[in-house]
Amino acid sequence: MHIPYCKSKCGYCSFCSSDDFSTLKLYSDSLYNEICERGREEACDTVYIGGGTPSVLPRGEIGKLIWFLRENFNIESGAEITVEANPDTCTDEFLYECRRAGVNRLSLGLQSDDDRLLRVAGRRHNYAAFEKCLYSALGKGIENISADLILGLPFQTLKGFEKTVKHVSSLPLKHISTYALKVEEGTEFYDNEVGVDEDLQAEMYSAGVEILANNGFLRYEVSNFAKIGFESRHNSKYWNHSPYIGLGLAAHSFADGYRTENTANMSLYIIGKRESGREKIPLQELREEYIMLALRTRDGMDLNLLKSAYGCDLLKEKASEIKMLRDLGAVKIDGGRLKASPEAFYILDSVILKLI
Ligand code: SF4
Repeated sequence: MHIPYCKSKCGYCSFCSSDDFSTLKLYSDSLYNEICERGREEACDTVYIGGGTPSVLPRGEIGKLIWFLRENFNIESGAEITVEANPDTCTDEFLYECRRAGVNRLSLGLQSDDDRLLRVAGRRHNYAAFEKCLYSALGKGIENISADLILGLPFQTLKGFEKTVKHVSSLPLKHISTYALKVEEGTEFYDNEVGVDEDLQAEMYSAGVEILANNGFLRYEVSNFAKIGFESRHNSKYWNHSPYIGLGLAAHSFADGYRTENTANMSLYIIGKRESGREKIPLQELREEYIMLALRTRDGMDLNLLKSAYGCDLLKEKASEIKMLRDLGAVKIDGGRLKASPEAFYILDSVILKLI
């Protein structure tokens, strides 16, 4: 569920979010209507409320939204319920509300522990605010906490990044995501012609993987690292091609073989013209997408699923390519799954190209 509001726009951000809160009440009304209309009977074992910044919601709203979701969807007891928050708006009251509503996972936008870099990135918080929020959430019983880090920010050095990863991975977190900076059109970084040094990013990534592993954070997807048993159940669904319903502005859904897309136009969303696209995905496309997403994960792709769901006998269809990749040590087959080796994570695009 998407909450498309932020206090201000970060320099690198290309997400669908706005700092114009004048539409918030109408947006909430339309979101409640969408939840009602799209409610389902099937059991739902993960909920993810992201943004934007869910922690900017007015007091009482996050609890109400989750209550409303429970009324309209069959959310299992024990479901993983994640809320994203930014340290500058993640107040004690917000955390209490989350806890009372059954939120059991918090995803905090940290990005860096270096206040100078946070200012460069246009973040509104400093490191101290993050730490306060982390310990406040732990104190309220939310123990499954994730932090996001960006690698390749302007003025960030390899040494600086290593120091950040060492520091952050020593905190009582269960999950860390690291994203390489991309400079996309429409962002302040793009307008200011901020450059990206991909070689330096690769070095940072490589160093980060090692430091994280030494501190017990194991890579289970290219950008995601978790203590054992704390892999994000929700994100894993995207990579495993499980169905999901996206609610809110610009949200995407994948269910019943269809991909649907909500409008990114706030005026249309508010008047109830929510859906902007719906397509039946061709089998070939589904198959390629599954291979691409699943190979990014530690557990790789389920060869039986590929056969039963997408009619693809990969071991036959790509026999010579798989042999070559196995001889090179780039992939292995283990328990009916084809997995990329740790070394192959650096050349994943080439491996995927061989298999689709
Ligand atoms: S807080 Fe997140 S969604 Fe909001 S502007 Fe910054 S990066 Fe974008």
